[in-house]
Amino acid sequence: MPTRALLATALLAACGAAQAADVALARLDCGGPPEPVSVAAFSDTFEFDDTKLPLTYSCYLVRDGDRYLLWDTGNALDGSAAAPKVPLVQQLARIGLKPGDIDVVGISHYHDDHTGQLAMVPDATLLIGRADWNAVTQAETPAGMDPKAYAERRARFAPWIGRGKLQTVGGDRHDVFGDGRVLMLDLPGHTPGHRGLLVKLEKTGNVLLSGDVTHFHENYASNGVPTWNTNRADSLASLDRFKKAAANLKATVVIQHDPRDIGKLPAFPDFAK
Ligand SMILES: [Zn+2]
Repeated sequence: MPTRALLATALLAACGAAQAADVALARLDCGGPPEPVSVAAFSDTFEFDDTKLPLTYSCYLVRDGDRYLLWDTGNALDGSAAAPKVPLVQQLARIGLKPGDIDVVGISHYHDDHTGQLAMVPDATLLIGRADWNAVTQAETPAGMDPKAYAERRARFAPWIGRGKLQTVGGDRHDVFGDGRVLMLDLPGHTPGHRGLLVKLEKTGNVLLSGDVTHFHENYASNGVPTWNTNRADSLASLDRFKKAAANLKATVVIQHDPRDIGKLPAFPDFAK
């Protein structure tokens, strides 16, 4: 290759590196049970029938250049013991962000402890697994579900039903910002459209946010499947995928409900970079 072409290639590479998005990740506290809870129902093989463990609810903020993704929105501000002590709006305000500054709100799945404060960002694009969206918006109450609970679930998604910016996600992965740095990964089984999040940080390396593919270390180690998962075979396949991805990517695995994983990221308002 001529010297000038080599130089041009080197310059392009340098520019590319300089322009690569500055990606950062922070955890936000989103409530959780105040006391250790019985985790018997988290194993359909009766592994934890006598076990109580502390659990937490986590939300995450991803900054990619000047764009923001909020991942999961935690428990509702419903006055219950599991409600977040500080509303997400106030937490975001610590770094000068308003709800309108959140470009994208992505949820791992439709359960209440992940969608409680969804309606605070009605102008954001909602990213949700397509099968989850279909389950939330189907006309009939799902079999075995209390109609009131189903109506309450639907109500959390009201800003996006028939209006709002909605992107339902199908397929294996979804590149949230189009730069390959933040990927939603298909991990069905806990719910039909359940997903996790891979965040590729420059200094910290790869981080995998679990969604609810697993809930605590012991269940992760033994491939435990909660009794209320929608599909057992899918759950096991998703655990297999998640573990192999973590190994190949040398990723930091953050189990969102396990308080022992809170310290894997710096305390907000600091970000892992
Ligand atoms: Zn959960």
